[in-house]
Amino acid sequence: MKVVYHPLYATDYPTASVESPERVEVIRRELEGRFPFLEPEPAREEDVLLVHTRRLLEEVKATADLYQVALLAAGGAIKAAELAAGGEMAFGLIRPPGHHASPDHHWGFCFFNNMAIAVERLIRRGKAERVLVIDIDLHYGDGTANFFSGREDVVVVNVQEEDRGRFLEGVEEALEGSFPYDLVALSAGFDRYRLDWGGTLEGEDFRAIGEMVSRRVREVCPGRVFALLEGGYYLPDLGQNVLRFLEGLSSYGG
Ligand SMILES: [Zn+2]
Repeated sequence: MKVVYHPLYATDYPTASVESPERVEVIRRELEGRFPFLEPEPAREEDVLLVHTRRLLEEVKATADLYQVALLAAGGAIKAAELAAGGEMAFGLIRPPGHHASPDHHWGFCFFNNMAIAVERLIRRGKAERVLVIDIDLHYGDGTANFFSGREDVVVVNVQEEDRGRFLEGVEEALEGSFPYDLVALSAGFDRYRLDWGGTLEGEDFRAIGEMVSRRVREVCPGRVFALLEGGYYLPDLGQNVLRFLEGLSSYGG
């Protein structure tokens, strides 16, 4: 398991105060020394334009420090996806998040859709043929779902169960469904945690989710899984919850 991270993810760019630089700092402190860290390159404009309109790109570009970090977040997603395509599990410890960014519209602390850019780029380059995207964030990842709507080569599952047991079953059902995927991508939000906004999942549930994915990926497409940070706002436990998730994800190789 590799962690893709860049110090500029802790930039204090203009956004909602709850989506603070501290989010990635608390996670970095928890993961450092436990997993190898890699630094990404910024995404290029042409990568962003795989998913977004020129208009949206120019809108984000108008805020220089935000634009720099948003390109680095998309670049971090691309790097994590490339590692996964090569059979090495990876986690993008990135910021800003992306799953509320649609082709020509963004909201919810998101600017570019890191997940959609990374997955679309892999497919265009022939590095994956059928990708299963599972979004476990509290909030429905409308941007990712919008972009891949109607596609046969990418299935996006937003697990939206309010009940803890049903939520875990929902993840399992996504993994066991009839879609024949060759790579799994996880939009990993941690805001469904018991003490966060969602109030649904225990910390250990993130480990259980990671384990479920790991077990299934080992059978279907060994090593070909990556996860990207989306939401998660309860800072005292956020780092621990990400660590549990990654330990679970590493449990069957990687
Ligand atoms: Zn969220």
